[in-house]
Parts: sequence; C-alpha cells; structure tokens
Amino acid sequence: MKYETIIGLEVHTELNTKSKMFCSCKNESLPDKPNKNICPICLGYPGTLPVPNEEAIKKGVLMALALSCNIPEKSKFDRKSYFYPDLPKNYQISQYDAPIGKNGCLEIEVGGIRKTIRINRVHLEEDAGKLVHPSADYSLVDFNRAGTPLLEIVSEAEISSPEEAKIYLQTLQSLIKYLGVSSADMEKGQLRCDANISLRPERERKLFPKTEIKNMNSFQGVERALKYEVERQKELHKRGNRPERETTRGWDDRQGETAPQRTKETSEDYRYFPEPDIPPLRFSKEFISKIKNMMSETAPTKKERFIKEYGLNEKQVETLVKNKRFAEYFENTISELEAWAEAENIEGANLKKAVTLGINYLLTELIKILRQKKMKFEDLKLSPENFAEFVKIVFMGEVHSSGAQKLLLKMVETGADPSNIIQEEGLKQESGEKAVSCFVEEVIKENPGPAEDYRTGKENAIKFLMGRVMTKSKGRANPEIALKILKIKLKNNA
Ligand code: ZN
Ligand code: MN
Repeated sequence: MKYETIIGLEVHTELNTKSKMFCSCKNESLPDKPNKNICPICLGYPGTLPVPNEEAIKKGVLMALALSCNIPEKSKFDRKSYFYPDLPKNYQISQYDAPIGKNGCLEIEVGGIRKTIRINRVHLEEDAGKLVHPSADYSLVDFNRAGTPLLEIVSEAEISSPEEAKIYLQTLQSLIKYLGVSSADMEKGQLRCDANISLRPERERKLFPKTEIKNMNSFQGVERALKYEVERQKELHKRGNRPERETTRGWDDRQGETAPQRTKETSEDYRYFPEPDIPPLRFSKEFISKIKNMMSETAPTKKERFIKEYGLNEKQVETLVKNKRFAEYFENTISELEAWAEAENIEGANLKKAVTLGINYLLTELIKILRQKKMKFEDLKLSPENFAEFVKIVFMGEVHSSGAQKLLLKMVETGADPSNIIQEEGLKQESGEKAVSCFVEEVIKENPGPAEDYRTGKENAIKFLMGRVMTKSKGRANPEIALKILKIKLKNNA
C-alpha cells in the first residue's frame, strides 16, 4: 500500500518594527534583562487600550502583497481566548475572519521543478511572553516578548513531502528577508513553524484527521520531524490504527522523535469575537499602491536578472539571492568596478576580464575567508568601494596572486583601505614597474616632440613627460621608479 503525504504549514514571523504591536514598548529581539520592555498595555492591565502599530500593518500588507494575496478593503482584529500563564490578557489579539491577506501563493523549486503552493491567509497578531523553568518547583514568566508583532502565514495543505516543506520554508524566509520585514532567524525564534500532517492511502479521496507538529526550530528540524511523522503515521495506517482525531505532538530534536502534547483546540474553544477596542482597518487603493511601491525586487526576479546581467551560473546566483545584503554588496562592488573601468577607458574584453575577476573574488575567495573565520556576511566591515579597489589592484598587477590572498584576508580582518595594507605589509609587486613602464612607453609614443627635446639635451623636457606619466597612472605610479624608467626608455630609444 502506498500513501500520499499531505502537509500544511503555519509560519509565524516576528516583524522587526521599532515598537510592539499595540503599545509603545520597544520591540527588541533578545533583550538582556527579563521584563525590561513592558507596560500596562502589554501586561494586559484592566482599562488599558491597545493601539495598532502602523508600521506592523504596512509590513504585514507588504508581505501579503509579495505572496500575491488579495488585500480586502476591510480587515479587523479579534480576540482569541486561551488560558496560559504567558498570556497576560487571557486572550491574544489576532485576526479571525477578516485577515489582511487571503488567497495568495508562493512558488517553490523542488529538484529543478517549479511548484506553486497556495497561501490560505496572512494575518497579524501579537506574541505571548515566555515561561522560564529554573527548577521543578516553580516557573518564572518574562513578558518582554508579549505584544511583539507577529505575522502568521498559513499555507494550504498542498505540500507533499518533508523535503518540500523545508524548501517552502526556506523560500518563504528568503522572501521575508528580501522585503526586510523580519530578520527571520529560526534559531532566535523570529521565524517559527508548525506543521499539520496527515497521510492517506493512494486513490483515497477523503482527508484523515491531521496531526499538528510543534517545536521545530531549524530547517533541518522541520524536515526531520516530518520524516519521522510520515513513518509513524504509515505504521498506524498499516496496523489499522490510523488517527481518528486531530492531535498535537511536540518535536524533540535531541531524541529525534515526536511526542503527544495537549489535544488540539478547535476554533470553538478559542471563542473568537471581534476586538471591541480596535476599530476595523480600511485599506484604500492609494494605501495599497503605496505599499506596492515599497516592494523591492523579490528573489526569483533578482535571480533571472543576475543571470542575464552578469552572466552568472545557477549556483553563483543561488549564493547571492540567499542573502539580500550580500546581493546588494555584490552589485555595489561591481558597479564601482565598472565606473572605474569607464574612467580608465577599459572596455570590451578587458572590461569583461576585470568584472569576472571581481565576481570570482566575491563569490569564491571572500566566501572562503568568511567561512574560515566563521564570520557572518553581516559582520563584514569591508566596504564595496574598498573591495572594488582591491579588484583594481589585482587587475593592474600591483600585487602578485599570493599577495592578493594575503591582502584580502587583511582587508576582511580590519576593514582597512587596501593601499594602506599594501604599504604596511610590503605587498607591492616588483612588476608594479611593469605597469609604470607601460605608461612610460605610451607617454613617449604620444609625445615624440618633448621626447626628442630631452634626447637632444633639453633636460627640462623630462618634467613634462613625468607629468604625463603621473596623470596617466592617476598618480599611482611611484615617481622615483617612473623617473628611472623614463630615463632608461628615452636613452634606449635614442
Ligand atoms: Zn507595552
Ligand atoms: Mn498564530
């Protein structure tokens, strides 16, 4: 008997707004002290009034638009009641029947094949606090997280394998990061995922009660937990003991298994009703088109453009689009490099050579160094301008290739200007003379008159020629070396 796997994902992402969802407390990702950013509103004191955060609504709508959702004209908040010590009001302000986005989709790529997963809804809500359990006798509650803006993204049950679930989540994370609405770091709990999974015998039409899996906090964890669950449910089906009701299970990453948790609440248990303290939201066409304009380029579009514009291959592009800031860095560096090339009249095959050199240093050497140093790209102090300067230096042959490695390493370590490091480390290549002598030869060729003057004894003519060499090299030629070479060349030509 073969079984079909049916998975739907509920993803929560913490929005990176300055303040919380309904009060002006700081929205800090991991504050250094418990109960640091709290006030009567996020502590649920009686008589306080929540005021929705405009920035959170804008970011939520932006995400919903990027997922091709319909944005309704009217949306509202609702109270979702449940009782747990980390929820100070005994209800969560969420959205029930009028979310900010409906009927969207997300395109993913599984093994080279594109597949569209439909998005059921996108809604805004607030996060709960956190319980800490220092010993078996008592627990502590930290309300820093209470009231953090959350965006919940619910997919349709159209994901058909644990691997697909992981890819969906990674694609979603990359979109979130692109839009800049959240840092979406799973390890920091900024991106959280619950999965609903059920199996059904092939050719069966009806769906069996789903099991909700919680507590998966890495991409790897999601895939492993779902793989485990597929096998467990397969066994149940085979033994004629298939799930008859909806249950909730928690993933234990260390044990590598899921274990039963409380029975899942149904929406009746939550007793949803409209939040009476917050008037409904109304989205005008102008508001929506304004948000649309905020939308930066999404990963798939960027991918295509990079391939076309820079002639990159799939693998190179993949590395780039995974990190928005790296992609920006890449583009800034290359455009610096191109601007320099244009100023130097470097074009055609030479321009291509310079750009390819830049691409290779960015996508192989830089990444290699970051990996060796266990550094995140975000921690890189080296500016695109300095990186482009580095590529120029290598292209002009001012340092030899092992010197270039050393130079780049130093630049990553210190963020310093390459020319300073070259001097300090004595990395200047002898063949710097080569570049100078090219300039000298050109200058002599272009100025036969003054060259002839010098040869016939007018010593002062060499000053003019030196000036031309310095201009040509944009002041980079070492004057002593330039003068020496100039004298030799003039003599030899005589
Ligand atoms: Zn507060
Ligand atoms: Mn939720």
